[in-house]
Amino acid sequence: MTTSLSRIVFAFAALAALFGSSLHAAKATPLPDDPAVTDQDRIYMKRAYELAVSATTKGNTCYGALLVKDGKVLMEGENDAITSGDTTHHAETGLISKATVALGRDVVSGAVLYTSTEPCIMCCGAIRFAGIKKFVYGTTAIQVTRLRGTKLPDQPLQCREVFQRMGFGDVVIVGPVDEARGLVDHAAALAKGIR
Ligand SMILES: [Zn+2]
Repeated sequence: MTTSLSRIVFAFAALAALFGSSLHAAKATPLPDDPAVTDQDRIYMKRAYELAVSATTKGNTCYGALLVKDGKVLMEGENDAITSGDTTHHAETGLISKATVALGRDVVSGAVLYTSTEPCIMCCGAIRFAGIKKFVYGTTAIQVTRLRGTKLPDQPLQCREVFQRMGFGDVVIVGPVDEARGLVDHAAALAKGIR
């Protein structure tokens, strides 16, 4: 490809990404915060969002998580499913796997998990098996699906229903929290071609 042609292709791709992301962003209006969110939760959610962006700088999808106990961060994690080649390495599963091995299930089960985006079914399973009793998520998974332009089913499965139907409806779930921030971060990652 000649230099001028590659410049034209690059410019077109950049415009398409920009236009596409603004189109997608218009499809996902941020939902209001869960009224149950505390000031403390907001501090840790900000960190979860930072970890999600950090993941994208390494070429991974935009997800971050951390475990907090008694006001102390026990461990942090980022999605690294792309760079590790392990498709199960979501932010939450990677973190829970590492934390339960290093700290023990008894410690992890007493922690609060903060995750930048509502956990998928696989991660809900990991949270349940780790015995975690409270988690807080930032951006609703359905909203991220809207950004991606993927068709949603008529009744998408959400994490609260997953826990109810697993028989763990007593797990405290808080979210969304500052979804506007999460949607911007996801849109930026998608515009870079990270999916
Ligand atoms: Zn997941």
